[in-house]
Amino acid sequence: MPHSARIIMLGRQGAGKGTQCVRLAEHFGVPHISTGEMLRAAIRKDTPVGRSVKKVLDAGELVNDELMISLVQGRIGEDDARISGYILDGFPRTVGQAQSLDHITEVRPINMVIDLDVKRELVLERLSARRACEQCGANYVATGNDPNPWKCEKCGSPVVQRADDTPAAISHRLDLYDAMTAPLIDHYSAKSVLVTVDGLGTPDEVFARLRLAVEGLQER
Ligand code: ADP
Ligand code: ZN
Repeated sequence: MPHSARIIMLGRQGAGKGTQCVRLAEHFGVPHISTGEMLRAAIRKDTPVGRSVKKVLDAGELVNDELMISLVQGRIGEDDARISGYILDGFPRTVGQAQSLDHITEVRPINMVIDLDVKRELVLERLSARRACEQCGANYVATGNDPNPWKCEKCGSPVVQRADDTPAAISHRLDLYDAMTAPLIDHYSAKSVLVTVDGLGTPDEVFARLRLAVEGLQER
């Protein structure tokens, strides 16, 4: 890769961000930084951060900006991200977080923001079928005809429904997305780094679109 790609992936819950970010990260050899995964890992390990955020996650609320910013600042300062860049998934989620990120990345700015676009009506069904590995966070889709017990293909741990994938928490997170995160689209389109990618279709179809968008970035 000629230079490093520093990418933000925006998109509603259930738009397929997690799955697509894993694939893009593998394909382009850049780290995938998922703040939701970082927080869930902290909860699993029962660290002080994990203990302080568990209730917030289960309720589908947002963790405070200050904690999120320090988590992300630490992570993007690590060697792999400094050298290769990164794909940020789940951050920023508020205008305050985006403004702080602008500061933190002044020297090595974000070069692309992708809005993975799927309408609200369409993500509800995907979210109720979403399952995830308890240990590594790999995503799965329930069909009603699933193995029992269901073990993760990657690590063998149990595949379960996330604690925050209840109907009430899902609809609350979607409300928060519209209120707090959707305004970031204006924030980044003003900086001319925004690309909208249609999130409808099979995972392979969506991946092909995303790959083209990121290849376009590398040629710039
Ligand atoms: P989803 O996209 O389904 O909400 P994530 O894995 O991205 O799932 O996030 C799970 C939870 O982690 C969020 O509901 C929120 O509580 C917390 N979280 C993750 N990223 C952030 C962030 N940037 N700011 C505030 N809270 C966050
Ligand atoms: Zn796993």
